[in-house]
Amino acid sequence: MDLQELLDNARRNEALLRRLQAFELQLLSCQTWFDFLTLLLDGLPAQFDLDAATLKVCDPDGELKAAMLQSLDLEQGVLLNQLEFQSRVPIIDAAPIAPPPPWQSGLALPLLRNDVYLGQLRLYSTNPARFQGGMATDFMQHLAAVIAACLMMVKQSEEQARLALTDPLTGAENRRGFERAYQREWARGQRQYHVFAMILLDLDHFKRVNDVHGHGTGDRALKALCRTLKSVMRPTDHIGRLGGEEFAVLLPGCQPDQLHAVVNRVQQAIRRMTVYNDLQQPVPMTASGSFVSLTPRPHQNLELAQVIDHLDSYLYQAKRNGRDCFVSAEQ
Ligand code: GH3
Ligand code: MG
Ligand code: MG
Repeated sequence: MDLQELLDNARRNEALLRRLQAFELQLLSCQTWFDFLTLLLDGLPAQFDLDAATLKVCDPDGELKAAMLQSLDLEQGVLLNQLEFQSRVPIIDAAPIAPPPPWQSGLALPLLRNDVYLGQLRLYSTNPARFQGGMATDFMQHLAAVIAACLMMVKQSEEQARLALTDPLTGAENRRGFERAYQREWARGQRQYHVFAMILLDLDHFKRVNDVHGHGTGDRALKALCRTLKSVMRPTDHIGRLGGEEFAVLLPGCQPDQLHAVVNRVQQAIRRMTVYNDLQQPVPMTASGSFVSLTPRPHQNLELAQVIDHLDSYLYQAKRNGRDCFVSAEQ
């Protein structure tokens, strides 16, 4: 190598190093799965002239995938197509790999954090000379170490955000969490002319359940209600605990003509729900509720509180009708 070549090389390396440092700063500022995954899977290829990046992550109990699904909304969920969740990911060293078509060369980087193996980042290029055997990978290994650290940071920050939006007793979203889900769904509806639906429901004679069977039974009933709702809803639906024994369900994409069937399913499931008191005797449960379809229009804003107020008046009607009954709040 002559002097000019050496100088050119050094200059290229310095430019690459600067770009890597800038990229690492961007990584460090990510707090959500959406930001992190977008930067890693779209930003990294774009900023480093690559054609694709994919991630294989160790996820033995499926927790990570569930956490990402919960944090990403319906449209953002496509990011997960670039991820593979595996119970075991083979431990590798940073090295070029045989790429799947249409790529011509690839590099696999291990993601290690404090000796814990988190997975692999894979980079692909259509240029066959981009990643070759014998190439120096120290820059990229450093990047992989930063990515691994950021992955753990985002995981913790998302977990904290989730806890702040979750009701500790039932695991349902709390009022703030539900409010956030509603606002997202409303905005998405405005962009894409999507309809969605909401159900408001309240356990019948719940004070009596507490008085007769004790608070512990009441708490078990609330948990059972949440489990029951989850079992009959889609994973993308939201269940919020708005207060004591009052819950709301948000159903993205639920068409008005499907809503009656969904409500029926909910009502049947609650009737079949088994809650036991401290003497192991079954305590029958019913709920009353109201439901409505919502069609967001551009430039129209409808607050969650307004929808709840509206549903509440119909819920009151359901209670007056004798309970164990769901009333349509369509106008
Ligand atoms: P209705 O059929 O009209 O809804 O009657 P209700 O007795 O269910 O309604 P009310 O609003 O009078 O009672 C709600 C009860 O919910 C009173 C309160 O003690 C109970 N409650 C609220 N939060 C909790 C909780 O976290 N755990 C338990 N066990 N009970 C709760
Ligand atoms: Mg009640
Ligand atoms: Mg109530």
